[in-house]
Amino acid sequence: MPAYHNPMLPPERTPRQRIMELLVGTRLTTHQLAQMIAIPEKQVEDHLIHVVKSISQDKTRRFILEPSRCQDCDFVFRDRRRLTRPSRCPNCRSEDITAPRYGIDSVGSRLGIMDSNASGR
Ligand SMILES: [Zn+2]
Repeated sequence: MPAYHNPMLPPERTPRQRIMELLVGTRLTTHQLAQMIAIPEKQVEDHLIHVVKSISQDKTRRFILEPSRCQDCDFVFRDRRRLTRPSRCPNCRSEDITAPRYGIDSVGSRLGIMDSNASGR
């Protein structure tokens, strides 16, 4: 067996790098990411924790978390810090909870606030 799985991708590309690329400009669940990269969903969650950390230090990009929501009463899990899907709604006890979605947005010229060096001219 050759060491690489897919000749389209450079062999040094790690799952974490692929997650970061896949999330740019979109919103995906861990389930979707797991299928796209072909690794277990649990590993996607582990990688996401580190992705969040590296994005938080990157001023040009922003990590987006669309929180889980209860489909029955519209309760939103805003305070939830964990990345995994909650199992039950604390408000109505429903288990019909949407999976949280993740994405990476670039903080580009559209917002144009971050570039403090531009004030010289
Ligand atoms: Zn609910």
